Amino acid sequence: MIKERGLLIVLSGPSGVGKGTVRKELFSQPDTNYEYSISMTTRKPREGEVDGVDYFFKEREGFEKLIEEGKLLEYAEYVGNYYGTPIDYVNETLDAGRDVFLEIEVQGATQIREKAPHALFIFLAPPSLSELQDRLIGRGTESQEVIQNRIAAANEELEMMNLYDYVVENDEVELACERINAIILAEHCRRERV
Ligand code: 5GP
Repeated sequence: MIKERGLLIVLSGPSGVGKGTVRKELFSQPDTNYEYSISMTTRKPREGEVDGVDYFFKEREGFEKLIEEGKLLEYAEYVGNYYGTPIDYVNETLDAGRDVFLEIEVQGATQIREKAPHALFIFLAPPSLSELQDRLIGRGTESQEVIQNRIAAANEELEMMNLYDYVVENDEVELACERINAIILAEHCRRERV
């Protein structure tokens, strides 16, 4: 079986849909055989978040330097903070034949579609818009203003759903993970040739 380069897997979807929870569940499974790309952000760490594990936390100036130096595969300014994917880690891991998993918002996923059209694009969708709003409010980690901005962003983000290869409903985390793993497996069977 020919397997030259790893598969770039992009999981995206609106804030509050549960991308982070689904990603953590996927990576807690012992048989997960793709690598997580830790993002950079200028957002301040939330309680319990660890630098180099959840994110690489950066100051704005440092982040903008990385942009200028072309060190990011994609980046986006999302509700007042920068988020981006370090390019070297992604390239090195793919070159080593390993799959890389990105969990990013939709502007960044759109940039990757232009740069890496053969990546696998999965959209995590909420069961309904009202459920998404309830989750954003119920999370309790953000101020009212940030919640309102995130709801506004989520409405726009939902419109991008049709540009993705697959849409996975996040009605239950375990089910969503099963669907994502089935998609990745199917994608390998589709792409790899003897
Ligand atoms: P949070 O502040 O809740 O951790 O993340 C906010 C949003 O940024 C989420 O939708 C998350 O998926 C997204 N995000 C995390 N890392 C990246 C990244 O490297 N690039 C982009 N474009 N978005 C990211």
